[in-house]
Amino acid sequence: IIDVTNVTKTFGQTTALDGVSLQVNHGEIVVLLGLSGSGKSTLLRHLDGLELPTSGTVNVLGEEVSSLSGRRLRALRGRVGFVFQQFELVPSLTVLENVLTGALGTLRGPRFGLWSYPRAHKLKALGHLDRVGLLARAYQRADTLSGGQQQRVAIARALMQDPQILLADEPVASLDPESSDAVMALIRQIATDQNLTVVCSLHQVDLALSWGDRIVGLRHGQVVLDTPTAGLSKSEVMEIYGRVATTTT
Ligand code: ATP
Ligand code: MG
Repeated sequence: IIDVTNVTKTFGQTTALDGVSLQVNHGEIVVLLGLSGSGKSTLLRHLDGLELPTSGTVNVLGEEVSSLSGRRLRALRGRVGFVFQQFELVPSLTVLENVLTGALGTLRGPRFGLWSYPRAHKLKALGHLDRVGLLARAYQRADTLSGGQQQRVAIARALMQDPQILLADEPVASLDPESSDAVMALIRQIATDQNLTVVCSLHQVDLALSWGDRIVGLRHGQVVLDTPTAGLSKSEVMEIYGRVATTTT
């Protein structure tokens, strides 16, 4: 479902990705591990067409990402949801409106306020809020929620476009350990229920082992580890991968 072949990405003098190849199968939950600057975000951004490779190819959902533009690129992006470390909610809007903005790609023109969204969207958004356990918060301002709750809202928002792939760039890096675990559990549960493929970058080996099917380790823009998590211990990961930051940055 994702096929990255020999991708190199340079920004001026910096080589962010250096000959990366990665195949992800439908329904897999792949965790990208690596120190700051190892290329995790850059790799994720390639999977959504936000970056184009300097060389190599990125194939997502059967489409060659670098060959797409305009409407076809937007269509592909619509099938890929993205969740960020800083949640990126609109603080002054209600939780429900924030979720609704996830469907903007499928609607024409701007929207102002709840009333301007079709009823079907509102019902769907409420359903997703229920799914992430925040239905009771729907009419609260987004900035009144805790970090973990805000990230669950961001996940509900990403689901609005019925993605087939969910990309998450350090979705728990700003959260305490308990909320981190809860958010990862939710991502895994939703992935299973909705048959989603997930690529998620993390800093913590423990979380990767608990919630990922497979770990891909990056170092200096190269894949230095690619292994299923089943039966793998933390010490084994550390041994193969070397020193990986185990705390949030
Ligand atoms: P972190 O854990 O800190 O988020 P990361 O693994 O996500 O790190 P990237 O953000 O992918 O790392 O960055 C990889 C390298 O590419 C870094 O050296 C970074 O400075 C560089 N880089 C990334 N994006 C750009 C850009 N738009 N312009 C210039 N350099 C960039
Ligand atoms: Mg990053």
